[in-house]
Amino acid sequence: MPKLMTDMYNIEMKNNIIVIKTLPYMKKVIVTILFLFVLFQLKAQTQYSEFKRIDSNLYLIWFNQFGNKSLIAEFDDYIVVVEFPQKDTVVKAIVNKVKEVFPTKPIKYVFHTHHHSHSASGFDSFLELTDAYLVTSSYNFEKIKALTKDTIKLNARYINNDSVYFLKSKRNELICYVVKQTQYLVPTNEYNLIYFPKQKVVVSGCLYQKPLDYHEVVNDRKLALNKFIVDNNIDAKYFIPTNTTKKSGFEDICTIGMLDSTLKYGIKPNEVADFFQSKSLEYLESKRDSLLKEIKKIPIYYDYYQCGRTLMERKDYDRALIIFLLIPEIYSDFSHNVYLCSGECCEFKGNREVAKVFYEKYIDCAVSESEVSFGKEKIINLEQ
Ligand SMILES: [Zn+2]
Repeated sequence: MPKLMTDMYNIEMKNNIIVIKTLPYMKKVIVTILFLFVLFQLKAQTQYSEFKRIDSNLYLIWFNQFGNKSLIAEFDDYIVVVEFPQKDTVVKAIVNKVKEVFPTKPIKYVFHTHHHSHSASGFDSFLELTDAYLVTSSYNFEKIKALTKDTIKLNARYINNDSVYFLKSKRNELICYVVKQTQYLVPTNEYNLIYFPKQKVVVSGCLYQKPLDYHEVVNDRKLALNKFIVDNNIDAKYFIPTNTTKKSGFEDICTIGMLDSTLKYGIKPNEVADFFQSKSLEYLESKRDSLLKEIKKIPIYYDYYQCGRTLMERKDYDRALIIFLLIPEIYSDFSHNVYLCSGECCEFKGNREVAKVFYEKYIDCAVSESEVSFGKEKIINLEQ
């Protein structure tokens, strides 16, 4: 046994068994490491805010590490939770916090806007820790069911809402509208918009978010939100975007004025696409530097990505590709979906070899097994 090792671990042989006895300073090191580990675990478990009151009987709690948030509504005899991003950690945090702040009121109803993981990640912990009912549409219910272990229990705690659902008490009121993709261009087949008429608050999920210092692109989902509000005479003063937080560079709460300004001043993909299509490819190539400068003015890659997508929808793959190729030159944090779109533009133009290179880049940056398989499928299809 080397001297250093025996000194360090104070090793003795007893009945042919090595007994390791740590020296005092090693004990200190181990205790410190254990302490830091426990502290890290506690910190990991407590990565959520206090309840922040946003209006009478409405509170927000946000989960910084995910950039998500939930809304807590206090009714006369019970509590309503809207949005349950992530599974165990977040739901346990919500349940514990509700117990602490409203010890006499159980969580009775849970709502969510749609089935993306930032709004609904399985109902397991609610089933386990509460007697709460899930209120959602049939399509969303099937999605949540697929993520839930105890489906028998879930069936017993499900309230179907395929149109409009009301909750009313002296203290608070809630109306849950189901927005269908067949009528409004929301990102999922069915989208629940949860409205609190007393406070004029709409939980808008990922339909609208406002970066802190500029107006984001006017995409279909923002137009859908605006149209639904107008069509249904919803008197909205505030929107709660639940997929972003101030920490991730977005407003925690948006106002109707912010949405109006975004619709007015935000980049409109159709207008950008019109501009690109009014110019020849040669002209656009010759203006590459000025295009680069123009795109650079926008802090998030997503805005011009949407413009590229609009050109793709118009089957103008040459011009879409011009945008997709500029994005990685400007933004370090662009999504690998840009590679996917670049690949598709090349594929649709008949340039299979370059398409394959982009699909490979997409696979390299994939964040899930399903993305890897999707990329691989794209390559297999190219080779057929
Ligand atoms: Zn979403």
